[in-house]
Amino acid sequence: MSAAGTSSTLPAPTGLLIGGQWQQTDSRLPVMDPATFTVLAEIGDASVSDGLDAVAAASEAFTTWSVTPARQRAEILRRAFEIMTAELETCARIIALENGKAWRDAVGEATYAAEFFRWFSEEASRIEGDFRYAPNRDKTIITDHRPMGVAYMITPWNFPAAMATRKLAPALDAGCTAVLKPDSETPLTALWIGDVLQRAGVPAGVVNIITTSRTGEVSSAILADPRVATLSFTGSTFVGKMLLKQTAERVLPSSMELGGNAPFVVFEGADVDAAISGAMVAKMRNGGAACTAANRFYVHASLAEEFTTKLEAAFAGLKVGPGIDQGNDLGAMVSVKERDKIVELLQEAVGEGVVATPSTSVPDLGAFIAPYVVRDVQHGSALTRNEIFGPVAPIVTFETEDEGVRMANDTEYGLISYVYAKDPGTGVRLARRMESGMVAVNRGLASDPAAPFGGMKESGLGREGGFAGIHEFLETQYFAVDL
Ligand code: NAP
Repeated sequence: MSAAGTSSTLPAPTGLLIGGQWQQTDSRLPVMDPATFTVLAEIGDASVSDGLDAVAAASEAFTTWSVTPARQRAEILRRAFEIMTAELETCARIIALENGKAWRDAVGEATYAAEFFRWFSEEASRIEGDFRYAPNRDKTIITDHRPMGVAYMITPWNFPAAMATRKLAPALDAGCTAVLKPDSETPLTALWIGDVLQRAGVPAGVVNIITTSRTGEVSSAILADPRVATLSFTGSTFVGKMLLKQTAERVLPSSMELGGNAPFVVFEGADVDAAISGAMVAKMRNGGAACTAANRFYVHASLAEEFTTKLEAAFAGLKVGPGIDQGNDLGAMVSVKERDKIVELLQEAVGEGVVATPSTSVPDLGAFIAPYVVRDVQHGSALTRNEIFGPVAPIVTFETEDEGVRMANDTEYGLISYVYAKDPGTGVRLARRMESGMVAVNRGLASDPAAPFGGMKESGLGREGGFAGIHEFLETQYFAVDL
């Protein structure tokens, strides 16, 4: 069954949102449906000067927005949550068409994305301060938090709605204004969210959205502009490091949500059926194209055969096809380029001697790839070192708890780990040994707007969501006062 309408009826704006106006540009960029290779829309292509106009608009709007009562800001965000929730299917349709993901994942993402508006609407009026006496009583120490200013935000293609709202909601809540640059593969969802925010009553200039083919040039100019107060980036570690070098020039605060290489460790005594259910979520949510996706499976030798056989059976039951059709479990990869990166990794693994057989067939047209369980993989091989970002599950066997923990932590990344253990107490003990910002214990999903999302090591700096998320957009200021 098709999920409501066709690609020609997409309701997303296609211009640049600058100072509350949708502006068209002379040159246009096509946005493709990766399941059919048809053009969904043509969007604006911002120049450096458009990018700086967006900064100017955000800077001007900051004067008023930063002193707008928190309650008023919260009510606007709450309205954005209500509009998104009422129009969830529209949001899911845009996501499924431009990103390719399965309908169930698109609805899941739209719901998750809307929740950031709700969570942060509830946080706006609770930004805390602090008052205390200095230990020698020579003064009082008053600690305040103030909005940083204009926030530049860059988001990836894999969660085009949630990565935008996870930044916009806390920034607006804190009193910051925003210039958002979504990924060029999936810009329509962010443009639609811009329209939702306008309908919710966000004043002109508070949220600006630019799309561009000159990402590096436009971003460098924006980051060099003294009116920009902070950068919030989600994407690859490679690009994150490049941006950190640029922000260092201005000592610009930077929040970095970067790549992952999540281990999924099944320890001795774990419930294999529960681990399979968790693995299907941790690996297959978003077709494996998630920074939190289980990338490497380490299974205790006593459970390895049962786990592998059951995972192969579960993969074989998956139906691959256009995400917009509700009957499919796995949609298309976002592009042929992303699909081919996964194929290359598989070819390298086969070259190293493992057997990789597709679990099911895929449509001829479109950027599809079948799911693979890859047996007898060596720890340290390409499949365990690289972020696969697709429906491929390499399985490595281990003998002792220490060996499982060592292999899980043997990576420069540290976003999330999955731990399956015989009971929650053992699970939490093992979770404490994991070098990652998040650990899912006996479950396949950890993300929640109310939880601090973020990584250790090269997976990032800072946290988004939870109570911590708003502090990425607040500056701490201390007043020494003689009272
Ligand atoms: P990417 O190549 O780093 O691109 C992400 C964003 O960076 C896009 O908007 C891209 O714009 C922009 N970009 C690229 N080059 C840039 C430059 N020189 N200056 C400024 N911006 C630049 O990553 P991706 O392939 O889209 O996303 C997948 C990666 O994101 C994975 O590594 C995944 O783990 C990570 N991710 C992390 C999280 C998290 O929360 N930790 C969440 C989701 C994804 P263009 O599209 O215009 O090139």
